[in-house]
Order: sequence, then structure tokens, then C-alpha cells
Amino acid sequence: MDTQFVPTPAAGIDPDVLRDEIFVGGVWRRGDGELIESVDPATGRVFATLTAATVADVDEAVRAGQAAVAASGWAELMPHERARVLYRIGEQIEAHAGQISALQTLDTGKTLGETEALARSAAGTFRYVAAALETLEDSLTPRRGPSLTMTSWDPMGVVGAITPWNSPIASDAQKIAPALAAGNAVIAKPPVWAPWVTLYLARLAEQAGLPAGLLSVLPGPGRTVGEAIVTHPDVAKLTFTGGTTTGRHLARLAAEKLMPVTLELGGKSPTIVFDDADLTQTVAGLLFGIFSSSGQSCIAGSRIFVQRGIYDDLVGALVQATANLRVGPGTAPGTQVAPMINHAHRDGVAAMVERAVAEGAQVLVGGAIPDDPALADGAYYLPTILTGVDNTATICQQEIFGPVAVVLPFDDEADLIGQANDTVFGLASGIWTADYRRAWRVARQIQAGTVYINTYKQFSISTPFTGRRESGMGIEKGREGIRSYMLEKSIYLDITGEPLPWAAEQARAATAGTPARPETAATEK
Ligand code: NAD
Repeated sequence: MDTQFVPTPAAGIDPDVLRDEIFVGGVWRRGDGELIESVDPATGRVFATLTAATVADVDEAVRAGQAAVAASGWAELMPHERARVLYRIGEQIEAHAGQISALQTLDTGKTLGETEALARSAAGTFRYVAAALETLEDSLTPRRGPSLTMTSWDPMGVVGAITPWNSPIASDAQKIAPALAAGNAVIAKPPVWAPWVTLYLARLAEQAGLPAGLLSVLPGPGRTVGEAIVTHPDVAKLTFTGGTTTGRHLARLAAEKLMPVTLELGGKSPTIVFDDADLTQTVAGLLFGIFSSSGQSCIAGSRIFVQRGIYDDLVGALVQATANLRVGPGTAPGTQVAPMINHAHRDGVAAMVERAVAEGAQVLVGGAIPDDPALADGAYYLPTILTGVDNTATICQQEIFGPVAVVLPFDDEADLIGQANDTVFGLASGIWTADYRRAWRVARQIQAGTVYINTYKQFSISTPFTGRRESGMGIEKGREGIRSYMLEKSIYLDITGEPLPWAAEQARAATAGTPARPETAATEK
């Protein structure tokens, strides 16, 4: 891959969108950090450069965020007033979905169909959050004494949002929208490998009337910019999506300052096919679950357990259908499996397949870089299905984050559930069967934040998303997703006007003869 030449502007992208500027405290300007070269995964060519943010930018952005919350009165606005701005951001995203899609396909390689769906989902997230914000109420709790007791919610202040490269606009929206809705300022740190749509989102938010300073976007390396956000004394919460190793490291840093975190991490999701499953529906679902987004999905259904009775038929159909998937550039109509994010990541995936083969796995289909000369410069890897290993193999235990699935036969339901749960992760799971009682029984026993029955990889912004065990902690989406950026406060309000009994005698004696306060007099009238 040659990254030496001068960037060539990409067709279909407004050059303004690729300006070498970061967004610090409401100001667009060049960063002072390292140079990021953005490479089109389909061609290996540099299409833009961006000067990253620095640790000093983090401090400036945090101060600006605090000042913006105070000066704009953002946190004190009525919910419908904040909702109006958030809704407008959603509308801006929707109106520019085509540009976002083109930009994200250029930056990540994903198909235009995938990136357009992500853009529309991000628009929906802002609109949902705007609507949900108006339904969040403070609540009275059951009275246990001579006070009214109630729960009210405060914003946290400045929230740090660190995101990965696989679905930038959707991950951004899932964090930025609820954090703003809750009355906070947000410092977003997009990944070095895909910074552009987050910057573009900030432009759209600005145009929608978001007060300056409430959102900063600081692309840069995790070790410097990311850690500076997490360790900054005035950042009150971290919301992070990324790998488990990074998440664990950041959770340790957050623990030092006792800062709450939401962590959406990796997965190795089991997909279970029972012998009464509809073959066509199942094969289509398995393919979508593992090979869409070229497998670069946290919930990718990468461990496929198939009941012995239909193993040969199912695997035969799956292999044939996999071989017929259309591999190509994300911009080409009809492409199903686009290039991976970059050559380094593709090579890492290839190395994991080689290691699996060394450990005894057989390649049923794929397992190689495509030999089509038209794809030679891109970061492609063929959709791959492996077999011949048991669930303890490295390829069944480690997240690959690429278009690679392993198929494993099973006989017994109890044993299957043990195997399905036998990883460190707990993100998602799929169940394919015509027997809804069995589906319910198995779904209840799978240790995962999301279970799909006869479907896969569906998302609803109103449905909470969470990982268990090493797949993360905390909740995104739904009304709880907004609450996760608020601090709960309990208020006790006396309704008797009487002194508390413990020292009432002394208090009465000490205050005898002092005039009643006007409010009291007014109440007594
Ligand atoms: P990553 O952990 O390498 O990076 C994620 C983000 O963290 C990036 O912005 C990166 O710059 C930053 N970062 C890295 N090291 C850091 C540090 N020391 N301090 C602060 N920030 C740091 O992950 P990735 O390769 O970008 O993304 C792939 C991973 O994300 C996969 O494991 C995938 O499963 C996971 N993921 C999870 C979900 C989910 O919702 N559970 C969704 C998408 C992706």
C-alpha cells in the first residue's frame, strides 16, 4: 500500500467535509497532533489527511463544555426546548444521509447500503431521544415518614465519548444524543481509522442550532487523546465502545477517579440452529449475521452451532450460499461483502485463520484473499467458514472481527447451552427453530445482553442494548440510555411544619418568643 502521494479528493464528497479541522469548544481549527492519513479501504489510496487533536485540546474542550453548559443554560432548558434542537439534528442527518453514507463508505469500506442505513439509524436516534426526553419524569416515591420523598435527575457535566471505527455515525449518535439530551456537554473522540463522519456530524449539529461548546470532536490516538479525556478531572462520565482490552484498561483509569463508565465491548456470539429450523430463513439469517459489514460487527454471529440431524444439509447450503456472496467495493451496486477497514486489520484476520488451520480447523469456503485482480489493491478477505475444531479452539474463543465463522455440530440441548455460554463474552445470540417453547427456554439460559429468535442483527433505538461479562457493562438505547447520563438525587420535603422530635424540646426553648417567619404566618392565616 502506497501512502506517499498527495491525497486525491474523493468523488461525490463535498471537499468542505474533508477540511483538515477538528472541532474544539465550538471552534473549527487545525489540530496540533500527529498527521492522520485516511485511506480508502477499497483502493489503498490516501483520500485525505487530518491533523489530530492533542492532550491540550482535551483540556480546552472540557473547559469550553463546562462554560457552554453554564452560558447556554442548556441543562436548565425545558425538556421540549432541548428536544427541539436534538430533533433538528436528526432531521439534518436525514437530509444529509447520502453525504454521510458516501463519506463513511470512503472511510470504512462498508457498502453504501450499510452506511446509508447507519446514517438513517443515527437520525432516528436523535429523533427518538428528543421524543423520549419529553417523557422522562421525576417521581414521587412511597412515603415512609412525615416527608414527601422524590427522585429527581441532574446532568453530569462533561461526558467523554470514545468510539470505534466499525459503525461510526451510529455509535456516535448512540452516545452523543442521549448525553446531550440529559443536559451535558460531550467530548467525542472518534477513531484514527475513521474520524470523518463524527466531524461531519458536529457540522450538522452546529447547523441545527446546538449551542457552541456543547460538542467537541477530537480525533486522535487513544493512548494520548483518549486517555486524556478519561483521566481529566472534570470529565464526569465515560461512555466507551471498543475492544475488551481497551475497555478494561479505561475502566481501571476511571476507577482511580471513581468515575462511572458505560462499556460496550467485544463478543463471540453463538448462533444456534435446531433441526426444525426453516433452512432458507436460517441460511439467510446466518449469512447476514456474520458476513454483513464484512464481519466487523460486535454482535457478529461467529460461532454457529448446528443440531446433528440437519448438520450436513445446513452446512452444505451455507457453504454454497457463502461462495455466491458478491465481494467488491462498497460503492458498487450489489456488493454484499466489502473490504475490511484496512490492510493491517485484514492481515490480522488472515493470520487468525492460518492459526486456526494450524490448530486443526478445515476451511469449507473462503480462507483467502480474493484472487480477482480488480480487488488486488483493496483490504478484501473472502467470507470464510471453518469446521473441525471444538469450542475450546482459539478461533472459537477469540473475537476475530472479520468475515469468519466456525460451524460446530451438537446433539444435546443442555450440552449446547453449556458450550454456547462457554466464552468470556456475553453480547448477543441467535436461535433458529420452529418450536417457540424451546426458543424461549434456550433464550432464558443464554448469557447474553441480546437474543435474536429466527432473526439476527436487528436494532431498535427504543430497545436497550447491553453486554454481559467481558462484553461490557451499562446500558445504551431506550429511555434508560438517557438516564445513564444523569445523576439521581433523592429529595425529602417536610410536610408537617413540626420540628424533628430528637431535639424539639431544646429547639422550642431556645426559640421561644422569636417572631414567626412570614411564610409560617401566611400558612396559618
Ligand atoms: P479499540 O478498543 O481498539 O478502539 C476503540 C476506541 O478506543 C478508538 O477510538 C481508540 O482510539 C480508542 N482507544 C484505544 N486505546 C485507547 C486508550 N488506551 N485510551 C483511550 N482510548 C483508547 O477498538 P476498535 O478496534 O476500534 O473496535 C473494534 C472493537 O469494538 C471490537 O472488539 C468490537 O467488538 C467492539 N465493538 C463493540 C460494540 C458494542 O456495542 N459492544 C460495538 C462496536 C464495536
